[in-house]
Amino acid sequence: PLILGLESSCDDTAAALVRGREVLSNVVMGQAELHATFGGVVPEIAARAHAEKLDLAVQAALREAQVKLADIDAVAVTAGPGLIGGVLSGVMCAKGIAAGARKPLIGVNHLAGHALTARLTDGLPYPYLMLLISGGHCQYLIARGPGEFRRLGGTIDDAPGEAFDKTARLLGLPQPGGPSVEAAARSGDPSRFSFPRPLLDRPGCDLSFSGLKTALLRERDKLVDRQGGLTETDRADLCAGFQAAIRDVLTEKTRRALALYAEEEPELPAFAIAGGVAANTAIRTELETLCASKDIRFTAPPLSLCTDNAAMIAYAGGELFAQGACDDMGLAARPRWPLDSTAAPLVGGGR
Ligand code: ATP
Ligand code: FE
Repeated sequence: PLILGLESSCDDTAAALVRGREVLSNVVMGQAELHATFGGVVPEIAARAHAEKLDLAVQAALREAQVKLADIDAVAVTAGPGLIGGVLSGVMCAKGIAAGARKPLIGVNHLAGHALTARLTDGLPYPYLMLLISGGHCQYLIARGPGEFRRLGGTIDDAPGEAFDKTARLLGLPQPGGPSVEAAARSGDPSRFSFPRPLLDRPGCDLSFSGLKTALLRERDKLVDRQGGLTETDRADLCAGFQAAIRDVLTEKTRRALALYAEEEPELPAFAIAGGVAANTAIRTELETLCASKDIRFTAPPLSLCTDNAAMIAYAGGELFAQGACDDMGLAARPRWPLDSTAAPLVGGGR
């Protein structure tokens, strides 16, 4: 099916057209400059910008794909989780298009979009193990279907993307923090500062990142007290040490998640990573090496499909559509929407 996807759950206004696994267009309009002076995303500003930009994003996506609204089979939209004002803007826009063009409407869980990206890019068959590492989430999931996920473990406090963003803020590096911390870490010495590897003494694949942030703050303050500020080398070494700690924890916990997966599924898993932090080369490389050593198929999305985009929403919507999913005008925007199968059903948001 040919699906128009909309995404507006955080600070990217995005629209895409996807037919099966073919991405016909993937428009992302970022808002970084609107939030730059505030040191983080301001929900009210984001919602207003989405409301202004969604139409433009849709028009650009249609133009690039050279299709008309009349040609599409359904409209898929992120219905949560995320900043509620932005999600509402997207859901309202999708309802307008669906009603105006008389097309089916499909509410998609943003996290399912990230989780199914491995199927969009690599056609990974179900079931597979995935690690979702993003700005707001960190969890190991067994993906069994577009609406069927089992959570094996996850963070008990911060998300890794959040930790990257806070680290950048503490060190005076630009937002989003992931790319700037990664760039600074490239010339740094990861062994100069010793950062904790939280929860490695605990069985299972739960993770914690808040202690890491505190440790970084302490090291920074020590340097500032002693020398009145930070040198470029200090910044690089702090970033390298921080990134190495995150990489090590994710690698060890992935080892454990693979073992937990083996208790539930007879076949060797395929392992996929997704979400903004999956764009990090150090983390990708280490996880790929781990999988290679165990003869496990590894997939990571191209960078443009790691961070938020509407192609993943259109793709996930297409899978749900093929299963007969459809929402009505009662589709609700949800600030929270957990992905595991024990929680609320994935389809039929508002009812
Ligand atoms: P969620 O998907 O959990 O709702 P989100 O949509 O805000 O959160 P994403 O867009 O998936 O999150 O990812 C954004 C996060 O990814 C930011 O925290 C950003 O710092 C981080 N990130 C982006 N690139 C990199 C990188 N190269 N290294 C580490 N982190 C990165
Ligand atoms: Fe996201």
